Amino acid sequence: QNEKDSQFIVSNWAKDHYQKLLHETEEGESIGLSYLVQRGLNQATIKTFELGYSLDQWDDLLKAAQKEGFEAKYLEKTGLTIVREDDPNRRYDRFRGRVMFPIHNVSGRVIGFGARTLKANDKTAKYLNSPESDIYHKSDVLYGLFQARQAIRTEEVCYLVEGYLDVLSLHQGGIKNVVASSGTSLTESQIRLIGRYTDNVTVLYDGDAAGIRASLRGIDMLLEGALNVRVVLFPDGDDPDSYIRKVGDQRFKEYLDKNSQDFITFKTRIVSQEAAHDPVKKAEAIREVLQSIAKVPDPIKRQVFLQQTSTTFAIDEQVLITEYNKLVKKDS
Ligand code: ATP
Ligand code: MN
Ligand code: MN
Ligand code: MN
Repeated sequence: QNEKDSQFIVSNWAKDHYQKLLHETEEGESIGLSYLVQRGLNQATIKTFELGYSLDQWDDLLKAAQKEGFEAKYLEKTGLTIVREDDPNRRYDRFRGRVMFPIHNVSGRVIGFGARTLKANDKTAKYLNSPESDIYHKSDVLYGLFQARQAIRTEEVCYLVEGYLDVLSLHQGGIKNVVASSGTSLTESQIRLIGRYTDNVTVLYDGDAAGIRASLRGIDMLLEGALNVRVVLFPDGDDPDSYIRKVGDQRFKEYLDKNSQDFITFKTRIVSQEAAHDPVKKAEAIREVLQSIAKVPDPIKRQVFLQQTSTTFAIDEQVLITEYNKLVKKDS
């Protein structure tokens, strides 16, 4: 317990430190802050999400922590520093020259960080994340949930996006009920977490092949979690952040309302596009949709989806239900 408390304390201190660097140093302002402003974020958003900046040095955090009297082992355990391979007694900062996104748990305590590089052609990853620790379990966390939870309850829907910047831009645009899975595919515990606040999820993944694939996978999991799932697709090459910046808050909201489709319509469209006019492929596509329907725990909803699918594919409902029953039996 003491162990965890120490990790909370050092994480919170690091968050304060990165914030100070962003707002109160020449490097932080001219590189970090100007980047965030150039990406369209305002001071209120930057403050709400407690964004920061890590200096482009090997030991800035390390030195500052020593001065504060923090034991090195806590920096190590929270992944803020890394042990040197050539000399295990020495360490260096994990995050250098990056914009820092503190990751909060539902009670608002900092448990880890996401960090974006600002270099155009960085050979290392665009985003770095804190490693797993006693207080940070990546698969249990949704980025932005602390800032979103009230709005999710009142709006009675949770928007699910892929990235940090998507959360920030939508929040700033007045869509506060938004969280990100942050690059990992959705997990059961993330879904349970959403389910504590609402039964309704709208998936807003990137408008590229990877985003569509990820939403198809995620949707089946969301259905198993007994959530009602809708999907909005963005034009190829856009993600929610780039799209809201392009069209503005008002048109973005209209776009969501006009283009949100329930998962059956979405999945049907995607798989039937692949099937085109090939009857064998079409049968395969229908079975894929039926597989998803089988994941819905509520029998009444299942019934509605089966009706819908029979209409969309122009297949007799009885034939479809017979096929569905065969499929479910095979799986059990
Ligand atoms: P940006 O708009 O800043 O370029 P993005 O959020 O649109 O970033 P994507 O490439 O769409 O970036 O990735 C979505 C999310 O996946 C990111 O926000 C981040 O959480 C995660 N991610 C992306 N690239 C990496 C990486 N190389 N390593 C770890 N996580 C990553
Ligand atoms: Mn993407
Ligand atoms: Mn983006
Ligand atoms: Mn993206």
